[in-house]
Amino acid sequence: MTVYTSGYTSGNYEAFARPRKPAGVDDKTAWFVGAGLASLAGAAFLVRDGQMKGEKITILEEGRLVGGALDGIKEPERGFVIRGGRELEDHYECLWDLFRSIPSLEVADASVLDEFYWLNKDDPNYSLCRVTENRGQDAHTGHMFSLSPKAQKEVTHVFLAPRSEFENKRINEVFSEDFFKSNFWIYWRTMFAFEEWHSALEMKLYLHRFIHHIGGLPTLSALKFTKYNQYESFALPLRKYLLDHGVQFKFSTTVTDVDFDLSDKDGKPHKQATQIHWTVRDDNGTETAGGVDLGPNDLVFMTIGSLTENSDNGDHHTPAKLNEGPAPAWEFWRKIAAKDPSGAFGRPDVFGAHIPETKWEAATATTLDKRIPAYIQKIAKRDPFSGKVVTGGIVTAKDSKWLLSWTVNRQPHFKNQPKDQIVAWIYALFTDVPGDYVKKSIQECTGEEITQEWLYHMGVPEAEIPELAATGAKTVPTMMPYVTAFFMPRQKGDRPDVVPAGATNFAFLGQFAESRSRDCIFTCEYSVRTAMESVYTLLNIERGIPEVFNSTYDIRTLLAAATFLRDGEQVRLPGPDFINRWVLRHLEESTALGGIMVEEGLIPDVRTKKENGVKEENGTKEEAK
Ligand SMILES: Cc1cc2nc3c(=O)[nH]c(=O)nc-3n(C[C@H](O)[C@H](O)[C@H](O)COP(=O)(O)OP(=O)(O)OC[C@H]3O[C@@H](n4cnc5c(N)ncnc54)[C@H](O)[C@@H]3O)c2cc1C
Repeated sequence: MTVYTSGYTSGNYEAFARPRKPAGVDDKTAWFVGAGLASLAGAAFLVRDGQMKGEKITILEEGRLVGGALDGIKEPERGFVIRGGRELEDHYECLWDLFRSIPSLEVADASVLDEFYWLNKDDPNYSLCRVTENRGQDAHTGHMFSLSPKAQKEVTHVFLAPRSEFENKRINEVFSEDFFKSNFWIYWRTMFAFEEWHSALEMKLYLHRFIHHIGGLPTLSALKFTKYNQYESFALPLRKYLLDHGVQFKFSTTVTDVDFDLSDKDGKPHKQATQIHWTVRDDNGTETAGGVDLGPNDLVFMTIGSLTENSDNGDHHTPAKLNEGPAPAWEFWRKIAAKDPSGAFGRPDVFGAHIPETKWEAATATTLDKRIPAYIQKIAKRDPFSGKVVTGGIVTAKDSKWLLSWTVNRQPHFKNQPKDQIVAWIYALFTDVPGDYVKKSIQECTGEEITQEWLYHMGVPEAEIPELAATGAKTVPTMMPYVTAFFMPRQKGDRPDVVPAGATNFAFLGQFAESRSRDCIFTCEYSVRTAMESVYTLLNIERGIPEVFNSTYDIRTLLAAATFLRDGEQVRLPGPDFINRWVLRHLEESTALGGIMVEEGLIPDVRTKKENGVKEENGTKEEAK
């Protein structure tokens, strides 16, 4: 076993170990602010690894459902709504560690992980058309990144330079026009929802975190998806697990404040949460104040900020509203952040006070007959009704003024979805500019108008668009004012540590808490990681937390990524050919690195008799790459 960062381990030894019951756990209670993935995961880790009785755990949620951002609902009049869909991957170490223990609701005697694993084994994800142009034509990006040598250098610099260099910097301060013109940026920004004004630091963390997936970006073969939307595939099984263990949920309960005793002890930081304050809203909207006193044995886990706070749904005939009013999740963080003069509770306004830069709009389109699915099939090159992978992740219309992307996941996307309907998800990175067909910004559009713009970029003849958008689909627009709040440029200390120094009975959860690991945000993994880190730290659980997958330290991955970033162009040294061959032969024959460089395609194999024809190796013959 190797311990890299306090409490983090890598390898199988601790992965399969069962921690013993932590001392004193039977005397403790736990309170969670929010019922998003982070809190649900935290409660599950308390039960499974902390062996805390479920009835000692209470989850306080301002809304009426579990799951937070992990939504998926059929609204009575509007229709199906998903604010987002989760691109997932094998190296969500904490998430899969959680879901290996949560029973599937779909497959008897299987865990959610088993269900997911079998599904993605049988039906692997990849895209047959990742980018379109000219109204539904394949842009034939040829799986190329088209990074110029200058842009390649910029990527390499961001990768190699220290984190501190990118604090408070925007992406457009570290990359040039060359980079922004590349296919790489199209793939990258639309897959992860980065804007040019977002954090260069987070972009760097993403490069490290997902370096093993660089080759899979153009086809999205890096990704895996759940059977249904993530409310049904993730949140509901977690909810059932927690209810079965006796965990209490209090809905319509907004936590308004937490008090702390911040008096240091013996010159050392000592921070203890002493009281939770909340208001409970009844069915008539009347609010009643309540709360609970906290002693040293009462733990509180607080989700701070929320990417989906104040999101608003329109309908087929009504635009979604941009709600810039009071936002309880942000107000709560602001209130407690102001309490600690040391600044240990973070700076919420770095993230939550920039709606024009953090908002975007998505829409859920439900098709009502076969006409729109025919256009989907033309682009996806797969039958959308097959029950299998359809678009294989997002399709981006690269010449769309909204920078519109859309996706059709395996159908049905909702368990109770009629068999002849398709649920698609659409989103636009540019929220304020008029579209190409609809001369309005997406923010001003009804669901019907968003459908028109989508149909236009799928190549539906213009004359047919109005009627098809009016009768062929029912679309719900969703405006999310804070959806990329965590991507705002930041520096160390802007996010509070998951367990701040000296904290005895509280922790921060979710995307706005700083994990001890180098993990990146806007992921389910990050929320679960903060949950695991907080529970394991506060209960002193003896098992290690899985380290972020260490591909960024794997020389093979780095060389393969370098090859992809160069679009397969092999390294050539300056000077005549025979010198090139001599140096490469020396490299390959006398160092282990040379062999790996050949394997990863970065240099030609000059040890063989022929470079580009048949190569002889270990007495066998095979086609050279
Ligand atoms: C559009 C979209 C696309 C996404 N795509 C991906 C993806 O491709 N891959 C991926 O891995 N992840 C993706 N994510 C991110 C992932 O879904 C989130 O990071 C994760 O679900 C966040 O969980 P959380 O519990 O940390 O926070 P949230 O989901 O925000 O939950 C917080 C909960 O706490 C409640 N709450 C907050 N404050 C209070 C309070 N004071 N009192 C009471 N209740 C409170 C809120 O109502 C909410 O229910 C996406 C998210 C969105 C919105």
